[in-house]
Amino acid sequence: MSKPITLGVQSPGGQKRVQVPGSANLETLYKEVQRAFGLPSASFLLTQDQRKEIKIDNIRHKTVTQARLKHGDRLFMHNSSELFQTLAPTEAEAPTIVIEEPLDLALAKLSGQVARTRDAVNCQHQGNAQCVHCIPFDPYDEQYLKEQNIKFMSFHSYLRKQSAGLSKGKFAPLRNTTCKVVHSSRCEHDPYPKGICGKCQPSAITLNQQRWRHTDSVVFENSQLVDRFIQYWRESGNQRAGWMYGRYEQHTDVPLGIKAVVCAIYEPPQESSKDTLKILADPNEEVVEEAAAKLGLRKVGWIFTDLVPTNVSNKVRHYRGIDTHYLSASEIITAACYQNQHPNPTKQTEEGVFGSKFVTVCITGNKENDVDMLGFQVSNHCMALQRDGVIVPTKDAPELAYILESSDSKYIPDVFFTEKDEYGNEIKKVGRPLPVELLLVDLPVTTPATPLSTFSLLPTTKTAFPVGNRLLESSLQDFNSFARYIGQFSDAEFPALVSDLHVLAFMATLDIMPLREYMGPLYTALASGNTDQVEEWAHQEPWQNLKAIIAASTM
Ligand SMILES: [Zn+2]
Ligand SMILES: [Zn+2]
Repeated sequence: MSKPITLGVQSPGGQKRVQVPGSANLETLYKEVQRAFGLPSASFLLTQDQRKEIKIDNIRHKTVTQARLKHGDRLFMHNSSELFQTLAPTEAEAPTIVIEEPLDLALAKLSGQVARTRDAVNCQHQGNAQCVHCIPFDPYDEQYLKEQNIKFMSFHSYLRKQSAGLSKGKFAPLRNTTCKVVHSSRCEHDPYPKGICGKCQPSAITLNQQRWRHTDSVVFENSQLVDRFIQYWRESGNQRAGWMYGRYEQHTDVPLGIKAVVCAIYEPPQESSKDTLKILADPNEEVVEEAAAKLGLRKVGWIFTDLVPTNVSNKVRHYRGIDTHYLSASEIITAACYQNQHPNPTKQTEEGVFGSKFVTVCITGNKENDVDMLGFQVSNHCMALQRDGVIVPTKDAPELAYILESSDSKYIPDVFFTEKDEYGNEIKKVGRPLPVELLLVDLPVTTPATPLSTFSLLPTTKTAFPVGNRLLESSLQDFNSFARYIGQFSDAEFPALVSDLHVLAFMATLDIMPLREYMGPLYTALASGNTDQVEEWAHQEPWQNLKAIIAASTM
């Protein structure tokens, strides 16, 4: 075999040197270049010049020497952008642009310290001095959180805790968990299952209860919006799911905390029975997202019912709890999937995201057999297990999930958790099966004493417009029901009539006269709370025409 020659290869992913014997064929050269850059295939083109005029063919019957390649030559790689995009973000050299959310930026600027007043008994010092009895609490102070009955620190408090002791302004980098093989240019072997090395093999994971929450509380603006949602179950006996639209705001009850404020529940198409529930694809998703976004709202979470009536009226069965499970394995995996679809932007990870603010609310019976709401998030570990497809529910135990085993197509790292045995010793177990409670953090769900209303709160004398996608006789959204609904309002009450996500979605998607393209100014007016502008919109053609069509067709 001839002496190896070294070639320089220039690519969209940077430059690398490749060594091949002059007697090697060109196919081998392509393979070497593929390996050097860690690319998933050799479907790129190599040339000797930048203008692609002197091509090097990916063929077996010609050697490197025959192609007149010499030691020290420079080659150019083309048609490989897509290949580089499949690599992990650090390998492809495209920088990730992370736009952090205004709320996170605002919280990052706060000190988060909780002031304490002078302790009448223990503080022995002069006026403004401070001692251990009166120095402010850090936002992650365990004693303080315990006193305030706060079960988990907020995400921003966790960040402060991680960087405590580091010089000001420095942050300990966060790391996302990976459960899959990330083959890269640093790997000197063929991709899995042909090879695996310490650089691409995901580390074993030990699951612990997550100590922080990305969202610390869920607040429903008023109880009517929940009542309107539960109405479906009351009427049909079938379960129901919805998307919660609202805002994330600072939650002042928790140091550096965040609350999800829910303003409306939109119900996508779905199939459900007394004990099953499946959310279907929604042809109107884009319209609803557009309406919400223009009103300054976003999807903050999902909500579902698990209600079983008892023999006593208004009472429901209680079976979710510490002795059984709060969320089932499949609900947890679904929540993880939604959280992965709504990642939390941050500059503190390589990937530009960490965790999610997206919440899960389950409406079910509490210990008193009353209808109650439970709020949750799944841990970032759980998000990684779902994203990389390594976790599945078990067949008959809702409280247990199962970590899949490695196969030829997929390497799966060991996933451990610790459990106390009968003697109180901690023992490490492999996650087959895995108790799902380890993957959850819970969060309080509340409704303020004084109701809030981003959308109108109708007086009891008026009937709300039927909610969409409900296949119930009483909930048909059509011209007749719309005519009945708007008939309850005077012209001056138009702002109250139209300030409802269900009404807006109906208007935007009408078959006979879709108003979507005219609704921009209406959304702007509603978002600013300017009722004059809202009324002005009603005087214009689109609404006047719609009213005329309705009048003509429902006479
Ligand atoms: Zn003191
Ligand atoms: Zn490797």
